Parts: sequence; C-alpha cells; structure tokens
Amino acid sequence: MGSKLEVFAKKNGIKYFLINFSDLNGVQRSKLVPTPAIAEMEDEGAGFAGFATFLDMTPSYPDMFCLPDPNSVIQLPWKKEVAWVPGNLSMNDKFVDQAPRVILSKMIQKAKEAGYVMMGGVEPEFMLISNDGESISDAKDIAGKPCYDQQALMRRYDVISEICDNMISLGWGTYQNDHEDANGQFEMNWDYSDLMTTADRHSFFKFMVKSIAEKHDLRATFMPKPFGHLTGNGCHMHISLWNSKVSKNLFHDEKGELGLSSLGYNFLGGLIKNAIGMCAITNPTVNSYKRLNAPVTNSGATWSPNTVTYGGNNRTHMVRIPGPGRIEFRLADGAANPYLMAAAILASGMDGIENKVDPGKRLDIDMYNESEKAKNAKKLPLYLIDAIREFQRNKPLRSYLGEEFYHAYLKIKNIEWNDYSRSLTQWEKDFTLDC
Ligand SMILES: [Mg+2]
Repeated sequence: MGSKLEVFAKKNGIKYFLINFSDLNGVQRSKLVPTPAIAEMEDEGAGFAGFATFLDMTPSYPDMFCLPDPNSVIQLPWKKEVAWVPGNLSMNDKFVDQAPRVILSKMIQKAKEAGYVMMGGVEPEFMLISNDGESISDAKDIAGKPCYDQQALMRRYDVISEICDNMISLGWGTYQNDHEDANGQFEMNWDYSDLMTTADRHSFFKFMVKSIAEKHDLRATFMPKPFGHLTGNGCHMHISLWNSKVSKNLFHDEKGELGLSSLGYNFLGGLIKNAIGMCAITNPTVNSYKRLNAPVTNSGATWSPNTVTYGGNNRTHMVRIPGPGRIEFRLADGAANPYLMAAAILASGMDGIENKVDPGKRLDIDMYNESEKAKNAKKLPLYLIDAIREFQRNKPLRSYLGEEFYHAYLKIKNIEWNDYSRSLTQWEKDFTLDC
C-alpha cells in the first residue's frame, strides 16, 4: 500500500505530479513534484509563497501549502508521465478562505447541508490565434458568418480532434465540437457533472487547450474580447439542482412553466437578483466589459447579454430556459475563474431559494432588437469598476463566499482597475493630443 497518489503513479506510470491551484485572477499555479516525493506532499502539501500570486497576502506571510485532492487527479493525455492534481490551500494548518477552490468546496457543503447538489456543465469558448496575439491563426477563416463553418473547422481538425481524443480518453463524455460565431473561435462540449468535477475539468480544459495549441505552434485564448469586431469568448453554464442523493432533478416539474419547478424559478430569481453583483466574478477583467454591452459584431450578433433578463429557448437573454429541468446562465466569460464562477452562481441561486425570490416575468422578445419593450430591465455594468462597486454592495455574495474572500477580492480587483485606469491609451492620444 502507498498513498492514493503513489498508487495512482504506479498504476499509470506517472513520473511527475503538477500540484495545482488557481489564484484569485484564475491564473493556474503549480509545483512539479517527482513521484518519490508525492506521498509526503499528499500529506503535508506543496509549499508556495502566497504573495507571489494573485492572493491578498504580503511577503511576510508564512508558507502556504497546496494539499492535492487525490480524487481529482488527471493524467495528462499528451504527456502521460505527468499527472495534474488540483488542491486546496492551507496556512498555519487552516484552509485559506480566500482560495477559490476552498471557497467552492465550502459553498458546495453549504448547499449540501440545505439538501441540494448543484450540477453544472460549462461551454468555454476559445480562439486559436497567432503566437504574437495580433490576429486569428487561420488566414482563410474570414467568413462574415463563420459559425459551424465546416471548412474552417476541418482546417483545424488536427488540433480539435487531438483535444477531443484526450477528453474521450479521460471519460468526460465529450459529444460535439464546432467552429463558433467568431473567426478563429471554437467550442467543445462534454457532459455536465457535480460542480467541483466540472470546475476541475473546466480548469484542466483551459490548460489542455493551451498546451495542445502550443504543440501545433498556435496560441489559444479564452480572453473575453480579443478582437473588437468579432464575437467574444463566453462561458455559459447549464444548471440544475438535485436532491442530496442525486437521484432527482429538483428543477424538473412537468407542470411548471417550461418544465421548471418553483424551486428552479427561485434559483433563477437569485441569479437575476445577484447578477450585477456577481459580474466582478463572472466577468472579472477590464476586457470582459468589451464583450458585454458590445456593438453588433461582424456576424450580426454578439451572443452576449447586456441586461438582466430571462427568456425561454431564446439566446438573447442573460438566462435561457432551453428545456425542462435546466437553465442556461449566459453571463460569464472565458476569463472567469472556474471555481469562483461556480461558487458565485451557486451562492446566488441559494440566496434565491432561501428568500423565495421571484424572477419576475419571462420575456419572450428579441432582446437584441426589441430591448425598448423591456422597460424595467436592469443593465449590466459598463466597466469593471462599476462591477467591483456592485460586488462591494452585494450582501448575499459577501455572506455566502465569506469575509476573507470579500476583502481580498475587492483589494485585488481595485488594484487591477487602478492599474488600468492610470495607463494612457493610444485612443486618448489619437483624439486628444491636439485638443
Ligand atoms: Mg457557444
């Protein structure tokens, strides 16, 4: 017998483990640990200096340890002697309450105590671009309406099929791949799972897509709006809530409107109520706000919401009810930290359930062309700083996600905004140098 990871290493020929965590900005950090040292690391964690990452810590802080979760280990399909294992951060023998995976673990536990297990499936869109980041990588991919473009998809067959083969080998239940609505943009779908499995896979997916793209001398980006005239990279989440045995989908009610139960409508009410406060998490960068509220793109639609509304099977709203028993939350983008995004969505939904929040009336209108009909619809924030201020005011998220996270996140995001707002842009020079 050995430790769980030692056994995994022996069975799968693993020589090294990446002990991984995501910081508050979603940057993935790891230590590469040789297998002979893994048992001790599994027990005590891999050491990091927290200040060196995007966490609210100073250089004087003691060692921070990442305790790998052996239940979430993944062998890299493209480098089989290495395994990736996400972990929870601890310091002074206590979990770090501002660490995204810790926050999600605790949020899942809170929902479980109330009798619920959230299931989620994500759709992280990405673009394959040139190595210098200046243009999309396929010079022939210029169609005005490139969604589902067969020719452009097949020109990237080697990359897409390699990623898909990897997902098949990992048993994720992958079922389709396509060219999305922007030139150079793709989406790959796999089965939904419990929230932690989905967050871990979402995190690993980003690592895998970037790695396979690099192997093919390309660059993959999940940046929300890398090109102003093209549709941005969203990250929609399909949501359902199950009983604690995960034997019954509590969102499903044949008699409910569009097959959604009253519990489902309360969860949806929570998303509507907290959407604006959640944006700093689901749309966490300066660039995120160039995807939301964007002018019409080359393809004819942005496919991103600009107001807090919901509809039936209608993609012009922030929340879509695509069929009985589930909802699709279309707000988040490719920059969202997979753990924080999942935790914020669950927290918002739980607030809706706890307070029996009514989501209001469904809007059966085209929000892109008839938005004037939705007179009372709240607008999503225009800039990151507005989103930060809304998060600062949001009590349910503060209470569910915890004080340490609340203060740490505000600090990190305010630094980011200040850094951005103090930098001079070319646009300012172009339009005001001679004023
Ligand atoms: Mg999509």
